[in-house]
Amino acid sequence: MRNAALSMRFLLAFVAAASPATSSAASPATSSAASPAAPSPSLPPPLWASKPDIKAFNAIEEGRLAAARKSIDAIVAEKGKRTIENTLFPYDEATRNLDSTAYLSYLMTQVAADAAYRDASTAMTRKVSAVQTDLSLNRGVYQALQALDLSHEDAATKYYVSRQLLLFRLAGVDKDDATRARLKKLSDDLTEETSAFERNISEDLRTTDADPAELKGLPQDYIDRHRPGADGKVKITTAYPDTLPALKFAESAALRRRLYETFDNRAYPKNREVLLKMAATRAEMAKLLGFSTWADLDAAPKMAGTSARVAQFLQDLAAAARPAMEREYTQLLAEKRKLEPGASEVYDFEASYLSEQVRRASFDFDSQSVRPYFPYPAVRKGILDTASKLFHVRFEPEKGAGGWDPSVETFEVWEGDQRIGRLYLDMHPRPGKFSHANMVPIFDGVAGKQLPEAALVCNFPEATATDPGLMEYSDVVTFFHEFGHLVHWILSGRQRWAGTNPLNLEQDFLEAPSQMLEEFMRSPQVLAGFAKHDKTGEVIPAGLVARMNRASAFGRGSSVSTQDALSAISHDIYSSDPATLDPDAITVGAWRKYTKLVPIPGTHFYTSFGHLAGYSSAYYTYMWDKVIAEDFASQFDRSNLLEDKASLRYRRTVLEPGGSVSANDLVKNFLGRPQDMRAFEKWLGEEFEGATPPPGK
Ligand SMILES: [Zn+2]
Repeated sequence: MRNAALSMRFLLAFVAAASPATSSAASPATSSAASPAAPSPSLPPPLWASKPDIKAFNAIEEGRLAAARKSIDAIVAEKGKRTIENTLFPYDEATRNLDSTAYLSYLMTQVAADAAYRDASTAMTRKVSAVQTDLSLNRGVYQALQALDLSHEDAATKYYVSRQLLLFRLAGVDKDDATRARLKKLSDDLTEETSAFERNISEDLRTTDADPAELKGLPQDYIDRHRPGADGKVKITTAYPDTLPALKFAESAALRRRLYETFDNRAYPKNREVLLKMAATRAEMAKLLGFSTWADLDAAPKMAGTSARVAQFLQDLAAAARPAMEREYTQLLAEKRKLEPGASEVYDFEASYLSEQVRRASFDFDSQSVRPYFPYPAVRKGILDTASKLFHVRFEPEKGAGGWDPSVETFEVWEGDQRIGRLYLDMHPRPGKFSHANMVPIFDGVAGKQLPEAALVCNFPEATATDPGLMEYSDVVTFFHEFGHLVHWILSGRQRWAGTNPLNLEQDFLEAPSQMLEEFMRSPQVLAGFAKHDKTGEVIPAGLVARMNRASAFGRGSSVSTQDALSAISHDIYSSDPATLDPDAITVGAWRKYTKLVPIPGTHFYTSFGHLAGYSSAYYTYMWDKVIAEDFASQFDRSNLLEDKASLRYRRTVLEPGGSVSANDLVKNFLGRPQDMRAFEKWLGEEFEGATPPPGK
């Protein structure tokens, strides 16, 4: 069971940067858990082979919803003793069908060619969310699951049911009618408030006037795009491609200050009021559900478990980051003193510019210099080959199989003589397509019944007859990251239950496997397998990889401290008493405490911190997972990543179980202990290892 808000958050958790058929209620062919003996289900042709139009799409989705409802009704109608067959199987069938419905509609909102199709899928996404919410409050289903005798069942089944019961209780299913009615009302209010908060940010595009001379230091193409108007002024908007380069490169501190003031006042004062309402709504929901704060309620189904544990993590993170952050802060201040002798503090609006100056002075590395080694076709092949070696699978192209767009590539995933899943790569920009990068599930995997399918939806350069499709370093990292989500999805697809897919995992674990795979991108051995110069075919030189890694290690202390400050703002707002909540004081306090940077008076960053709506108190999860990812990565032999036996053990203990085991146990099963900060601290300190960058190209 996943209620609407939860399920969308699970899906969103897969967004980088940034939470789903057939037969109904049929008894499965086998009841054994993910045993190797379970027959491998056949892989039907890709759904898009029949080129479903909007009408056909709606028919597919309605069919799945009807199947889910039939299963739910069957559970409630059952009068006899509760058994796995008459209760958990139909429950899991309902889950599988609702998942398939939600996954497909969510995918189509991102990739459908025309606006009408995207609108239809948005409407369907809302519809399935409503069904999921109803299910999360269905007392008959809750009581049926509660009545199951699980004493003879396997551990995965016991865990599955206990986690579903927890999620039901967190939705309020066991409360009296008046309380449930109030919760429903609050939930509807919250939906309105969160969307207003996000909409106020996206709609509030502000403009700063600049003198043309103030653009000095910016790249020429930026200056060319920003010509003065009739009044002699250049207009710089708060859109990222306008403001962020200016904060990084403009020599004029006065301009950067004005831009930052404008940027950090987006949605102010409107969103101050909306935030106070959201905090009050969430606090009341938490109280009704028996928690003292929203941060406690939100942490309950996560690895962290309690708000106190999150607060402790934020302190541990600060302690780990402080040595590197303070050294970097000293560098920034020294850089500032070159222009302003006697300066004693660094303001937040100066950090990006000063960092860039230090980076240029300290590292002989231009990120453009690696692009010729990363043409998209070679990177794609390289990542598939790397994943094959690491996880002992094969990716076989399905020629002419067809996706939703002619550019989509389809691959079957094989292990030995068994087909174990399918993936879709939709990797290049198109008009109307989702503009970031994420992994979107298409089908849950269920042993003996249904193979897992998933898609990567990204926006990387495309190779054409005249353009080799050279990727940025950061694009390649993103590709590894998203592929980490993808292999997690596919390799966990042979569980007994659809509902124990990775989305059943604690939400603060979901970014660990993806961030783990990012680390492999830094291995010269892995890169040598595919990073070859587009013109000369020369393998990327080890010296260049070393310089690239050194340059990318710069600024980790500041960046982790910033993430810590953001996490603290998110956590502290939702663990405060809403009656006395002062988001300005929390924001200023967090910047000063965690980053040492001085905020400009009169700014209100929190009104444009969109994650306060979706992530609410749980912005810490990326850093939480980064700590786990570094701990995981430290178990591998870096000098011989591709041959290391750790990868198979990692696959078996961390990826394959999906959401059939708690994430705290997955971590312990692989590491032999809970995660700790040692590997993360080493990663933080890497920028200060070694005196000078290695010579040579
Ligand atoms: Zn991710």
